[in-house]
Amino acid sequence: MGTNMAPETKTTCPYCGVGCGVIARVDEDGKVSVKGDPDHPANFGRVCSKGSALAETLDLDGRLLEPEIRGKAAAWGEALDLVAERFSAAIAEHGPDSVAFYVSGQLLTEDYYVANKLMKGYIGSANIDTNSRLCMSSSVAGHRRAFGSDTVPGCYEDLELADLVILTGSNLAWCHPVIYQRLAAAKAARPGLKVVVIDPRRTMTADIADLHLAIRPDGDIALFNGLLAHLAKTSAIDENYLAAHTNGFSEAFAVASAMRFPELMERTGLGAREIRQFFSLFERTEKVVTCYSQGVNQSSSGTDKVNAIINCHLATGRIGRQGMGPFSLTGQPNAMGGREVGGLSNMLAAHMSIEDPADRDRLQRFWQSPEMADRAGLKAVDMFRAVADGRIRALWIMATNPVVSMPDADAVEAAIAACPFVVVSDVLKLTDTTRHAHVLLPSLGWGEKDGTVTNSERRISRQRPFLTAPGEARADWWQLCEVARRMGFDGFDHASPSEIFAEHAALSAFENGGSRDFDIGAYVGLGDPAYQVMKPFQWPQPKGDDGRVTRFFARGGYYHPDGRARFIAVQAPETDRTTAEFPFTLNTGRIRDQWHTMTRTGKSARLSAHIAEPFAELHPRDAQMIGVGGADLIEIESPRGKAVLRALISERQTRDSIFAPMHWNDQFSARARIDAVVPPLTDPVSGQPASKNVAVSARPF
Ligand code: SF4
Repeated sequence: MGTNMAPETKTTCPYCGVGCGVIARVDEDGKVSVKGDPDHPANFGRVCSKGSALAETLDLDGRLLEPEIRGKAAAWGEALDLVAERFSAAIAEHGPDSVAFYVSGQLLTEDYYVANKLMKGYIGSANIDTNSRLCMSSSVAGHRRAFGSDTVPGCYEDLELADLVILTGSNLAWCHPVIYQRLAAAKAARPGLKVVVIDPRRTMTADIADLHLAIRPDGDIALFNGLLAHLAKTSAIDENYLAAHTNGFSEAFAVASAMRFPELMERTGLGAREIRQFFSLFERTEKVVTCYSQGVNQSSSGTDKVNAIINCHLATGRIGRQGMGPFSLTGQPNAMGGREVGGLSNMLAAHMSIEDPADRDRLQRFWQSPEMADRAGLKAVDMFRAVADGRIRALWIMATNPVVSMPDADAVEAAIAACPFVVVSDVLKLTDTTRHAHVLLPSLGWGEKDGTVTNSERRISRQRPFLTAPGEARADWWQLCEVARRMGFDGFDHASPSEIFAEHAALSAFENGGSRDFDIGAYVGLGDPAYQVMKPFQWPQPKGDDGRVTRFFARGGYYHPDGRARFIAVQAPETDRTTAEFPFTLNTGRIRDQWHTMTRTGKSARLSAHIAEPFAELHPRDAQMIGVGGADLIEIESPRGKAVLRALISERQTRDSIFAPMHWNDQFSARARIDAVVPPLTDPVSGQPASKNVAVSARPF
């Protein structure tokens, strides 16, 4: 680890979507310390356990320090030539859709921008998808159906200003800890602020809840449909807002009100009293924020769940005003930035639509590019299916570890292993994914990278370097530009992240007379000196805007052609997938002190001390029934695969259910990957995998 630059550097935590500002300090002896940035509007100096341990994860153990071709060190020129040659050959022989990029919410926006430009505008395919598909895509799809754009209407401050905060499918205390700290502090200062937690598990988040609804997995649509019907019947609808700014209420209400109360209880697994208590709280409270995260998104009905929630806020006009609105909590540090530049295979840059010929034409004219993808590309699960059946001949994976994190992980591993040409850009030499690469490209890690990220409240912040690049590691955007040039494409002469950001800003404002939500035109023409000192800001910030706190839709202004929001009529699905052979419902998720596949947080002994091993949490009576005691090994099996974990027996878990974390990989111990058990079942609209409701068996190992 080498150091340079100023003794203190303002940057952004690389873990979750809260996007906390941190200050990294490098002492004279090169020792790094990291603390919260008191001036950053996301966290005002707070950090969580992961953020406070960042300095413990910066060593070079295991780093990939030079390019490799088939396991042997290679010069950059040789490796880049080979990547360009093999991608060009696949395209020449099998067409543009025979190649794919699988990228990551860990990439900076500038990396993402160049990857998307190369694939969609120059190769001419939309086969670029991201691990954010596993994280946020149901929210994106729900936003686009309701609002006509992928717009988050509110901001973090709304949680502190609300009188009722509903957290559904969100273990905020562990997964977005600094927002949890802000909410807990607001509740302590103002006990009248009520918190409702809707989650099958009694997580740490439920400890501050006034009401915990231990809902059945995937029971959310039934609950929010029931709420919509209740609001209509109790005259809690905002008729003026409905008439002025929305369409489709009657259809949504007809579907919602068709469900009788006994069926609502059955589908949610909740009692009449607690359902009525929840409905009454929502009905009586004007300032309501409903936060949702992976428990909503990672579902075969995730998009419908998002719209069931949004329907209730549209019906009451509780959106875009202080302390009111539906609020999607993004998982990754730059899931939002990826969405802004078209990192999903079904979107274009600057929130333009791949289905809209005018948007495609506008983007191609802006880039002056030779091609333009004319239809959506493969979403993550389908992309790896296409790798498996030979449709994808060349695959470039950047900053992610799909052999651990994708559902049906064993099949994904077999597909990557059999792919004719695989490039992996990573900071680590050996992961479950890198071992299958034909070409390994060493990337910059946190503390070395330079660019921007966007957090859950649309706030764009800088990640700044304070360490010198180790070995021959180079930025991901640089790797992409070098390959693009070698493939014969003009338009990739970017020399710095600030140049790429300026192009991104210019695109956001290009022929945009208010027709798109994403506009950061105030940053058009930004030079490198201004980029270096750029302060965090929320989008939109069009030219001339003063950058104040922003909210959307209080007075309508939706992005459908008629300017009105859409209610979506959503049916509550069957939720029980268990059988006699697979009688437990598996729910996967995060723990407090690890991040994704542990390639960084696993380096900190302090973080690993929180929970040292992969575990399966189950109810005491279920443990007794299958004959496992605390800390025994337990084998979890589905028709797709098996994992072996340590039993954790706890009354926080409801009967017939098992929770297992998604972090551990086979570098830790054989069969530790829980995603080998999760089937490749996806939401039909968003393509997001369903990782929260998997039928499994469990037995002593
Ligand atoms: Fe980092 Fe998220 Fe913790 Fe903030 S809350 S310090 S962004 S991990």
